Amino acid sequence: MLTAEIIAIGSELLGSSRTDTNSLWLTDQLNRIGIDVKLKTIVGDDDARLEEVVKDAVKRSRVVMTTGGLGPTEDDITRKVVARALGKRLSLDEKVLEEIRERFRSFGIANMPERNSRQAMVIAGAEVLSNPNGSAPGLYLEHEGCAVALMPGPPREMKPMFENHVRARLEKLAGDTRFATRVLRVSGLGESAVDEKIAPIYTKYENPQTTILFNSSEIEIHLKAHGRTEADAEALIDDLSLKIEKELGNSAFSFRGETMEEVVGRRLAMTEFTLAVAESCTGGLIAQRLTSVPGSSKYFIEGVVTYSNESKTRLLGVDKKLIKEFGAVSQQVARDMARGVRHRAKTDFGLAVTGVAGPGGGTEDKPVGLVYIALADSAHTEHKKLTIPGDRELVRWRASQAALDMLRRRLI
Ligand code: ATP
Ligand code: MG
Repeated sequence: MLTAEIIAIGSELLGSSRTDTNSLWLTDQLNRIGIDVKLKTIVGDDDARLEEVVKDAVKRSRVVMTTGGLGPTEDDITRKVVARALGKRLSLDEKVLEEIRERFRSFGIANMPERNSRQAMVIAGAEVLSNPNGSAPGLYLEHEGCAVALMPGPPREMKPMFENHVRARLEKLAGDTRFATRVLRVSGLGESAVDEKIAPIYTKYENPQTTILFNSSEIEIHLKAHGRTEADAEALIDDLSLKIEKELGNSAFSFRGETMEEVVGRRLAMTEFTLAVAESCTGGLIAQRLTSVPGSSKYFIEGVVTYSNESKTRLLGVDKKLIKEFGAVSQQVARDMARGVRHRAKTDFGLAVTGVAGPGGGTEDKPVGLVYIALADSAHTEHKKLTIPGDRELVRWRASQAALDMLRRRLI
């Protein structure tokens, strides 16, 4: 499999004024044709640093893509420095120069500014890649087994140049390698618990590659495989994914990148059960997540945000005495909310959340992050106490995730 690296050139990309998006786009494009991007570097407009980076790049990678620094100004150093790094001559190409002149003429400028002539400098042995969207042509060359492409910085110039000139050349080099990727999602287990369970499995495989990411309230397992065809790569992923799923059991809830609300929604639609939600600290987040799924009107009947004690009683019929005795954030009130909203909406399930989202409002026995969730059906009500670390947004998000997960597990 070919390995690639990308070098984004331009001092403006180092700070916050401009973000290097070219390398993100290029990585996706290269992956699609079976080339694995191992590294990207951002280099300011600095001759010496760029020369070092290019020298290293052509030694360790089979494909090197640069973007930026092909313009006509003093700080546009890419052509000159790459030529020096590869030990190749740089010379003026009359044909390219004429094309650039012609471009200026077509804009009604008879005399091309002298400094634009430097854009007609070509590295010995390189092919010139035309740039109908700007003045800087790109260059493509093969150097000691490494394919090097120099492309302009502006995305609207770089993307068509890659698509029209570079992709086909690289596809030929890459031969028959295709990638497949998959994302599994896990809830209800911590990052280290997940890794403890599945590391003995995935470490046995070099292909697929496994990466575990923690993402606010869920753990994502990213699998990436390569094979001669996409089907081969998919089959490798199927094999490992099945083993991981078996080890994680019900904690793995998503196998094709689906979100929690999509998974819960699908199960509700399948079983034809209906749902109503009563929320306090999540302020409607659960309803918002559920209704973001197309087709949710089939099973989602209503959501009630009861933020005050009084509304919990008025809208859900929560017993005032319970609130007084145990507080609004308590298992008793969560359970009463779930029963109340279910009764009110005449649904199969009632789901409720009450908690302290913070940053204020915590006490010694009701600290910030204390959340109760409850789920009621016609026969019984279950509840769970959570202590969620994190800021307000995180507490709210994780509370919504835990509540949806409680319902998901009930529907299995
Ligand atoms: P030009 O002929 O337009 O000067 P160039 O190759 O010299 O082409 P740069 O001057 O380096 O390109 O960059 C021009 C603009 O392109 C930057 O100001 C920035 O907006 C955008 N750009 C450059 N590099 C990147 C990048 N890696 N990702 C996204 N945008 C970029
Ligand atoms: Mg520049």
